Amino acid sequence: MIIPKNPKISDDQLAEVERIVEEFGCKIQVIEGAVQSIYAILGDERHELLINRIEGLEYIDRVDTIQSPHKLLDIRSELKNHKTVFGGVELGKRLLAIAGPCTIDPKDPNRFYETAEALKEAGAHALRGGVWKPRTNPYSYQGNDKALEILMEGSMRTGLPVNTEVMDERNLKLAMEAGVHMLQIGTRNALNYSLLRAVGQAIAGTDTVVLLKRGRHIGPINEFISAAEYIVNFGNPNVLLCPRGTLPNLEGYRNHPDESITPLLKEKTWAPVVVDPSHSVGKALYVEACSMAAVAYGADGLCIEANIDPVTGLGDDPKQAITPDAFRQLLIKCEAIWDLRS
Ligand code: PEP
Ligand code: MN
Repeated sequence: MIIPKNPKISDDQLAEVERIVEEFGCKIQVIEGAVQSIYAILGDERHELLINRIEGLEYIDRVDTIQSPHKLLDIRSELKNHKTVFGGVELGKRLLAIAGPCTIDPKDPNRFYETAEALKEAGAHALRGGVWKPRTNPYSYQGNDKALEILMEGSMRTGLPVNTEVMDERNLKLAMEAGVHMLQIGTRNALNYSLLRAVGQAIAGTDTVVLLKRGRHIGPINEFISAAEYIVNFGNPNVLLCPRGTLPNLEGYRNHPDESITPLLKEKTWAPVVVDPSHSVGKALYVEACSMAAVAYGADGLCIEANIDPVTGLGDDPKQAITPDAFRQLLIKCEAIWDLRS
């Protein structure tokens, strides 16, 4: 839909617009209003170049596209019937609960194994654990390949599938070779299109799941969904969208909690939503409330930082990890909210 700056465009201008859209196999249908005329594009109007060419004309205000830029992720796509199953949970049927430490300490494997057992016992369906870490401070602990072995051993001991973040193609290769069940794309790489493509290619033809976090610099919802489209485009639709808080932070919180975008996501896309309350609020004290809010908003799952002894953990754990006991209590409340929804 082309909206001109003035109520109408001249015949010459209309001819120019028609010539451009014809290059892309489209036509123009003029809709003359009493005050404002608009110019509908008939055909596939998603060509970025077409939109840029029209928006570049000095007499045009903007082009509003009706068709979704993310055709696979769109709620009307055939893929809406796709079911992602992870940790024995069919997404949408029951609340998926993923939990584990921010960072696996390679010098203390037992901490991860004990945390994993305790979280399983508290009701977790899957484990998380950071092997490679995106750190703001270049001198902070950056992760270690050794933690990958510990992650997989924790998976073997508990029988639970595991999630870990991959930041580059080297991490991706190692994680796929090790048999990591869920790859996390963190907030800093949420718009790293070459990594998104590499992950899409790597998981094609497998049942690996991707947890795609939302970029922390507030961006339009479509930008988030389009990032998922990059992955699904290679053939594996097991992508979970993860709101995890954005900037600017609310004073007192680490970020601006964004679990409230869940209903919006659900209106636009069929992809399940798994909220990360831990990075949203950044303090263990607020994690339960944020988790309950996420479930009330319609989230399909939660990914929570938890540690048997948060105070002595690595990375974010001293600030935001909860104990397995707190996780158990949180799950009981969140499941009660889930039951209210149906
Ligand atoms: C994490 O999960 O520990 C992490 C670094 O996530 P995010 O990308 O949301 O900051
Ligand atoms: Mn963390």
